[in-house]
Amino acid sequence: QINLLKESNALALDIGGSLAKLVYLQPHLPHNRAPPPLKIHQVDGTLANALSVPVPVLDGTLHFFAFESRNIHQLLRFIRRNWAHHTARRHIRATGGGSFKYESAFRDEIDVSLATLDEMTCTVAGLNFLLTYVDNEVYIYSKTQPHRPPQPASVPHATQLFVPAATNPFPYLLVNIGSGVSIVKVTDHATFERVSGSSLGGGTFWGLARMLLDCQTFDQVIDLTNHGDNRNVDMLVGDIYGGAYENLGLDASVIAASFGKATMRNDYARHQLTTFSLIKDRFRRAICGTLDLWLSFCHALPLVGRVLKAFGIGSDVPWSPTLITHTGAQYRPQDIALALLRMVSYNIGQIAYLNARVHNLDRIYFGGNFIRNHPYTVADISFAVDFWSQGKMKALFLKHDGYLGAIGAFIGASS
Ligand code: ADP
Repeated sequence: QINLLKESNALALDIGGSLAKLVYLQPHLPHNRAPPPLKIHQVDGTLANALSVPVPVLDGTLHFFAFESRNIHQLLRFIRRNWAHHTARRHIRATGGGSFKYESAFRDEIDVSLATLDEMTCTVAGLNFLLTYVDNEVYIYSKTQPHRPPQPASVPHATQLFVPAATNPFPYLLVNIGSGVSIVKVTDHATFERVSGSSLGGGTFWGLARMLLDCQTFDQVIDLTNHGDNRNVDMLVGDIYGGAYENLGLDASVIAASFGKATMRNDYARHQLTTFSLIKDRFRRAICGTLDLWLSFCHALPLVGRVLKAFGIGSDVPWSPTLITHTGAQYRPQDIALALLRMVSYNIGQIAYLNARVHNLDRIYFGGNFIRNHPYTVADISFAVDFWSQGKMKALFLKHDGYLGAIGAFIGASS
């Protein structure tokens, strides 16, 4: 049921742990039902999207915007710039944890009160709405080589097969990959149950990528994955067997242990060091190994301590997280990025399949901003579902995967 509030029907929010999403309905002109030119002023930090979609049942076009939740002020500025005259002392429907956390910021800074709605109810309602009213929303990844994981060094090109809207998409399993993962069994428009979840989600991937790779934006990491070769980092069946494990039907290219290659190398730390970092590394090791006590003393002297710190030298250095970061950097960042993405994607694909099996469901929709049609993410999740279900199940993806909650809030989902 679509339940638009007159005073707040232009936009709705879903403020999550990583991203704050905004959905805006641009009404169509009455005479030709076409959208007028969109006049939206971007502010710093607006994540561009090309996902606008005309929705006849809403008599308008939906537009989608996102901001990093840690920069919530950018979202406030965006709303003030574009909707100040509509929203002053008004309500905006909002869901997600941030609709509670930032409630006072909205009230105090832009004079908007948030009408909060339950997050899971909105997410499911948003997906039901898309499945029922929006054609070509759903796509599947059609792989080129069955039974083999997508090969690195040739970014998988998904042949997307789109699926028309359906009046009865039930029952299905929703696997929503946001910062964490929620797994929800949906049996009809009003009935759902969160049957499982995982803390290894998009936040894990993005968080580890930031620690290991020093990337500034999520899209930089995704870009790295497109140039990566995880075989330099992951231990494959072929690394253990010298080829396929035929008795179990495991191709040589199947990952046996994510990041396991690091345990197989003797030249671990030195392999790809540049001359400068080699000298720096030797210097650090020599000093750290022999003069530990002396260094602790030096750290007490501000200037000497600062110089040593610049070289990464200190009594806590050899086994500290800082050194792990440095050691990691001796692998190619793009290979680490891809290994991380595959680790998280395969794991979620497998958990999704197991839940579908336990609950006797054969349709699995994957939502959340972790996906966003990134080639390896889509290919790997599809491969995992296909692999574990022995070809009986397919992963189903959504064009507006990251906006389910915001769409649900927009249409006024109530539990
Ligand atoms: P949440 O509601 O928990 O914020 P989302 O569905 O918005 O969940 O997904 C958040 C995840 O999406 C992040 O953890 C990250 O993996 C991924 N992501 C995609 N694009 C971005 C981006 N531009 N900035 C940060 N994370 C992004």
